[in-house]
Amino acid sequence: MEIINRRKRMMSVARKLRREENRTIGFVPTMGALHDGHLSLIHEARAMCDVVVVSVFVNPAQFGPAEDFNAYPRDLTRDSALLAEYNVDYVFAPTVEEIYPPGFATFVAVEGLSDQLEGAARPAHFRGVTTVVAILLNVVKPDFAFFGQKDAQQALLIKRMVSDLAFSAEIVVVPIVREASGLAMSSRNDYLDDAQRRAAAILHQALSKAGEAYEAGERSAARLIELVRETLEREPLARIDYVSINDAETLVKLEKIEERPALVSLAVFIGKTRLIDNVVLGKAKRHDVAGANA
Ligand code: AMP
Repeated sequence: MEIINRRKRMMSVARKLRREENRTIGFVPTMGALHDGHLSLIHEARAMCDVVVVSVFVNPAQFGPAEDFNAYPRDLTRDSALLAEYNVDYVFAPTVEEIYPPGFATFVAVEGLSDQLEGAARPAHFRGVTTVVAILLNVVKPDFAFFGQKDAQQALLIKRMVSDLAFSAEIVVVPIVREASGLAMSSRNDYLDDAQRRAAAILHQALSKAGEAYEAGERSAARLIELVRETLEREPLARIDYVSINDAETLVKLEKIEERPALVSLAVFIGKTRLIDNVVLGKAKRHDVAGANA
């Protein structure tokens, strides 16, 4: 496994793999502090592609001024050891200057889809995400790039960007990996103490309540949201940021769930830590078999 810090080196390695060796490249962008959620993306990439490239880059452009860019967990030594165990071929771990050199002035923004949910709660977040992903896709030029359903809105935006700007990569979205308690794995779970970590299981319990009510025939978004809120409010350590039900493709806010799949998403503070999670209702059964949101 080679660790690459320079974008020029990453570009030339990737070009050689594609052109001279004719190998397919799978790419998994991450911010490091790796957990089993990231590893499932890598597992999928390993199964589908000849060569796996993982980037580890805490992207300053996607953090707001009052957010946790400085506190975000970083441990490239531990991450590299895990990636080597998972037979990753290349780790791309650039510095901030390598991605945003002096004079950097170009940003990519996906309009419309970025305005609601996480975009409303975190202004400029998605502009930072789509900009860095555009740069990384141009550096690595993968055949496939892997993203988690954990960040459902992010995955939709990236698909939109890749389609609109004619990137050649195919985007693969991988189901949410959860701890035994149901808590969706996240690097930010590192911020939680034991009591908070136990409390954080309420996010998945609340989404499951919506799933059960949906299965029992409830189709009113307001009633499903109320059920999720009531469940979250039973946990004294939880403070709701938002709970929303939107069309799973267009993100249009729904009043009633009809034939199309609906995304139930939420953001909740546990102490100072902001956690997100989601479930898709009314999706095709074959996705359930694949383990989505299990
Ligand atoms: P991050 O390092 O948090 O930026 O995440 C890198 C990628 O891993 C993103 O595509 C995330 O959606 C994905 N990811 C993070 N947590 C999970 C999880 N629990 N299950 C599946 N994918 C995840």
